[in-house]
Amino acid sequence: MLTVDEALTAVLARVSALPPRRRGLVDALGSILDEDVTADIDLPPFDKALVDGYAIRACDLDGERRPLRVVEEITAGRTPTRALGQGEAAAIMTGAPLPAGADAVVMVENTRRDGDFVIVGGPPVKPGSFRLPRGRELHAGEVVLRRGDHLTPARLGLLASVGRSEVTVIPRPTVAIVPTGDELVEPAQIPGPGQIRNSNAVMLESLALYHRAVAHSLPIARDEPEALGALLQQGLAADVLAITGGVSAGNRDLVPETLERLGVERIFHKVRLKPGKPLWFGVGPARGDSPGTLVFGLPGNPVSVIVGYLLFVRPALLILQGLRPVTAHSTTEVPLASSFQHSGDRPTYHPARLVGGGVAAEPLDWAGSADLKTVASATGFVVFPAGDRDYERGEIVDFLHFH
Ligand code: AMP
Ligand code: MG
Repeated sequence: MLTVDEALTAVLARVSALPPRRRGLVDALGSILDEDVTADIDLPPFDKALVDGYAIRACDLDGERRPLRVVEEITAGRTPTRALGQGEAAAIMTGAPLPAGADAVVMVENTRRDGDFVIVGGPPVKPGSFRLPRGRELHAGEVVLRRGDHLTPARLGLLASVGRSEVTVIPRPTVAIVPTGDELVEPAQIPGPGQIRNSNAVMLESLALYHRAVAHSLPIARDEPEALGALLQQGLAADVLAITGGVSAGNRDLVPETLERLGVERIFHKVRLKPGKPLWFGVGPARGDSPGTLVFGLPGNPVSVIVGYLLFVRPALLILQGLRPVTAHSTTEVPLASSFQHSGDRPTYHPARLVGGGVAAEPLDWAGSADLKTVASATGFVVFPAGDRDYERGEIVDFLHFH
């Protein structure tokens, strides 16, 4: 049986960034850009007023201030119809283009209007004041973003302002989720005898969404080869297929054989950890220019699903979208906030809460791999190595964060 590190190494060896695709801007949020983008125009594209007021020639205000004749009004979106001559001004609104001849704008607050004239008061006016010259931000042809840049909201705005509505990025991976089990009913239903609600699908869908994948759940697959095969086949259209349940040793655990029948190559089955030992991983057939689907068969218990996701699916999703390379160690070290008695022959991921502002981890009283209620108040898992042992308060342990 593989250790967690060996299993993760086996997963990472089969994951690389997805082939680039064109995407709309909002859909590209958080993605890695896969092209250099140049500006198609100067920004600003014209000399622009930075305040509401009057466009003037600064030299007209040297010495004694005479009233200036207001020759037109330029609102944002309009263009000036004439150049300013000596002793002339144009009323102008923020964002509007300055008329030729004007070299500054005075704030409306420092002026007094008198019919067709304006009297400018206030401090001396220097050429260039409240005027943003054309090209001050950037020039046409200039590279504004480069391949490898991470697309933040401000960068998407920049792309829009240089005329892009689509960009080439490493796309967000698609994730199909298939919950399996004859005992499952959907959350809105009242479970009958022997039935339980499907809590895994919503959890995996939101975990995947949290890591910027495009996730969707397929209907519950029953433990029956035909129905299961049909749903898993649908799931193989995605970049990642996350299945829950049906990977243990029971005689209705049909997921491994069904996947292999669909041409998914098994890489490993079972990892030395608790909870989640029966975890299955394989790679589906290549899909055109896209690599084969990464298939994770997670054991059905909800906490096994979370641990399996955090350890193996999350790093794969990050690498698929071209994000930072993940090392085998996604844990940090923290001291224990209280003593703890651990027993078990496998490394155990025990729900814990970071306390004292995150400086120490307190293991929670936990009823095992189906107990989501405890996990819902945890911030992650303390990793206890295999073996029976008493841990002292303050002892350093590994901690696997949810986020
Ligand atoms: P399995 O891995 O199929 O043997 O399932 C292990 C345990 O997880 C069983 O108690 C299942 O009822 C439970 N389980 C399986 N799938 C789900 C699910 N989608 N939501 C909640 N619990 C589940
Ligand atoms: Mg099952």
